[in-house]
Amino acid sequence: MKESIALNWRRIPERYRLEGTVCERCGTVYFPSRVVCPKCRREGRLKRVRLSGYGHVYSFTVIHTPGIGFEKAVPYVFALVKLDEGPMVSAQIVDVKPEDVKIGMRVKAVFRRIQSEDPEGLIHYAYKFKPVR
Ligand code: ZN
Repeated sequence: MKESIALNWRRIPERYRLEGTVCERCGTVYFPSRVVCPKCRREGRLKRVRLSGYGHVYSFTVIHTPGIGFEKAVPYVFALVKLDEGPMVSAQIVDVKPEDVKIGMRVKAVFRRIQSEDPEGLIHYAYKFKPVR
């Protein structure tokens, strides 16, 4: 799926700063950010919050079949990471051999280039996670 420049630009705060929202009423943290807290609805007040980037591997899968643009990267680990603040995100796990990835492993968000050859000349970055040693 191709994203427009405007959409990419709009998402920069989330992508680069791992920014979500927290409901001041119930304390639930959302990432990606939400406008309305589904628990509190009109009672809720959401404000921006920067996440620590720390979490643990909740579940993972080893990808052997590459997607377009990922031909050199297989095998790689794609995981569900539960952030310390509560939200669950899906991301690639880097800087570790697939066989060394374990459920419950502590990880930390890092920013990496995800695609280098874009017809529009854009360079895409996204968060990935690496083990905390
Ligand atoms: Zn709430």
